[in-house]
Amino acid sequence: MQEAIWTHVLREVPNEGVGVLAVHPYAPGTVLACYPLSNVAAQPAQRYLADPLELLRALRAMRQGGLNLGAIYHSHPRGRARPSPTDLDLARYPVPYLIADVQRHELRAYLLPENTEIEVRVL
Ligand SMILES: [Zn+2]
Repeated sequence: MQEAIWTHVLREVPNEGVGVLAVHPYAPGTVLACYPLSNVAAQPAQRYLADPLELLRALRAMRQGGLNLGAIYHSHPRGRARPSPTDLDLARYPVPYLIADVQRHELRAYLLPENTEIEVRVL
């Protein structure tokens, strides 16, 4: 699944890529499916905004497959794998936020807006 994330975020450079990851309800720490979404932010090189319709479709597909929303990922094409002030401001979901540092090929997970780094297994 890491490969799907990297393929997607590399394709989006110089823009940020965004997507959602699905987990089994009984194993919330292990990602089972990846749904790349379109970044519809006005300045997609500086921030991300998932296409709302694609997000709804992804959430419906998860539900139909018996999976839950497990994490949200986005990329920093030029920055580190740490939450930006905007990321902290815009965090709304009670799931881990994965941030991919495209240049260093590094993936880290955080609970936001608390900004606590956590471990997420993306196989
Ligand atoms: Zn960010």
